Amino acid sequence: MGLPNSTTDKSQRATQDQVLDPRTRMILFRMLNKGVFDDIKGCISTGKEANVYRALIEEPEQQLAVKVYKTAILAFKDRERYVVGEHRFRFGYSKSNPRKMVKLWAEKETRNLKRIFKTDIPVPKPLHLNKHVLVMEFLGTSEGYPSPKLKDAIIDPQKYPQLYNQLLAYMRIMYQECRLVHSDLSEYNILYHEEKLWIIDVSQSVEHDHPMSLEFLRMDIKNVNDYFRKRDVEVFGERQIFMFITEKPKPDTEWPETVGYLTSVLDDLPHLEITDEMKSDDAVFREVYIPRNLNDVFDIEGDVEKVIDGQTDKLVYKDLLGVNIENYNSSDEFDSEDESGEDEE
Ligand code: ADP
Ligand code: MG
Repeated sequence: MGLPNSTTDKSQRATQDQVLDPRTRMILFRMLNKGVFDDIKGCISTGKEANVYRALIEEPEQQLAVKVYKTAILAFKDRERYVVGEHRFRFGYSKSNPRKMVKLWAEKETRNLKRIFKTDIPVPKPLHLNKHVLVMEFLGTSEGYPSPKLKDAIIDPQKYPQLYNQLLAYMRIMYQECRLVHSDLSEYNILYHEEKLWIIDVSQSVEHDHPMSLEFLRMDIKNVNDYFRKRDVEVFGERQIFMFITEKPKPDTEWPETVGYLTSVLDDLPHLEITDEMKSDDAVFREVYIPRNLNDVFDIEGDVEKVIDGQTDKLVYKDLLGVNIENYNSSDEFDSEDESGEDEE
């Protein structure tokens, strides 16, 4: 092809440890030629679904992370639950064409990173996308060592409570501002970089109105609490966190959705003593089904009874639906719901 040999060498060197398919090699090769980066250094991570490499721009010197999604069908086999119900994938998700599929995952990760990057949640800046190859900001030292995952990070124990509150603030901003639930949040998908937690791996993050989003959110909360509880942080109850993340601020007490403000809210939030009752409350909360909208309420009669008995605080989703359940006694609203019809597909 008349391309300089050194470039070919570089793309070959980068990929010789892992067998990359010719298309992927071609994409990396083009990126080298276009000057997206000047060199690919070693592999930072080989995962089930993606490999991540470190790349270099020479002038001015800059390091990049290059995430290459694997095109093997099996790599994405168990991802279906993130896709079902996602509007974006309504027509485009083709299980029979793995190349199209991974391209969508890479696009989704890029779109989600962009959305999160606009807020003050620390995430690597997405820089370039071509098919299933995503180039982003590298999180690590200037010598090229990637920052550790939270799971491996060595952190002064005194910092844990503050990091915990910051992470809860990120989760709220992600929900309220980005309209996303991470859906795979744990110490494996958080990097500890410049003494802060950075969120990564957001390709499976779902829209807040995805039918499973609240279930995923609940799992995220549990993972986060489990991690920090083991590090002796006095954690909040899972239900308490769920409300903190999802509750719309009342109009007269609007919260600026910034990490600084929200952590100050959390700093002042009473750490209720964790009683057996709270533990069982969390256990019940984990089991309870959270409807996404009124059509999903599966035990409507049971819930109506709770309302009649004045037990509205037993409805977990009371504050989520934007319905003032206490004053809700009109049947004509249901009628108008019917009339407005299902404009969902
Ligand atoms: P997956 O879990 O699907 O393999 P991740 O996005 O979690 O993909 O990335 C895998 C690993 O690669 C991370 O745990 C982290 O160690 C490293 N990594 C990912 N993105 C970056 C980045 N921007 N900077 C430095 N390291 C990164
Ligand atoms: Mg990961």
